[in-house]
Amino acid sequence: MPLNNKRLFEMSGLIPYCPLCEHRYTPLEARLLDEKDDVCLMYVSCKKCRISLLALVIDNQIGVSSFCLVTELSMDDVIKFKDSSAISPDEVLELHDALQDNVFVNKLITN
Ligand SMILES: [Zn+2]
Repeated sequence: MPLNNKRLFEMSGLIPYCPLCEHRYTPLEARLLDEKDDVCLMYVSCKKCRISLLALVIDNQIGVSSFCLVTELSMDDVIKFKDSSAISPDEVLELHDALQDNVFVNKLITN
């Protein structure tokens, strides 16, 4: 990733502790997954309680801010899906309808 170690260290400090168990993170626990313009996507996994955080860190002329969410995604899942298109409401409804079909469900279970 293009961020130098000092910059990554500063940005990971914006995610100081685990929101669930309050374990204090070290900057080495944060992983930089992507960087575009002034926005970085970071991933932190808590060593104590095992939850993971996904954080968008925005560094622009106004200042630095971060938005974090708890996720069940692994770091590999985030890398795999971060550039994928969103699932549409129609696709969700199609899946709902498909799950009403026992033949379809049996194919899912046996494969
Ligand atoms: Zn924790």
